[in-house]
Amino acid sequence: MPSCESIQARLSAHLDQELTQQEHQRIDVHLRECPTCRALYDDLARQRACIKKLPFPQPSDQEWRILMTKMGIQGPRALGWLLWIGGAVVLAGYALFEFATDPGIDAVQRVTVLAVLLGMVLVFLTVFGERLAGLKHDKYKDIEK
Ligand SMILES: [Zn+2]
Repeated sequence: MPSCESIQARLSAHLDQELTQQEHQRIDVHLRECPTCRALYDDLARQRACIKKLPFPQPSDQEWRILMTKMGIQGPRALGWLLWIGGAVVLAGYALFEFATDPGIDAVQRVTVLAVLLGMVLVFLTVFGERLAGLKHDKYKDIEK
């Protein structure tokens, strides 16, 4: 008698008629003798029947349009942000490296440029922080209503 594990591994293929005649019969014989595998097989068969009855979940035309619009706008926008931030970070890093290693630039210039860069980063971070705080605030407002 083949092991239950090897039978259970083939139940799905059995239901899909994917097995050879010999394997098919071997499983049929086992199912008649083994209530455990039989119960599993019945469950599987029921599930298959249910899935076949379900219509394939298709978004409606309206839902498709909304989805496509969202992806069409938000995809490129997200990519734009990524490129912009990525580029800015690389540029800032490159500029910092140049300034830190260039012996031709005097200390005053170096400090000034670093101050400007630091200022930009701080402004960016605070704007970003306000944005996040604003989002949170909006959420709480909705809850209070
Ligand atoms: Zn079994």
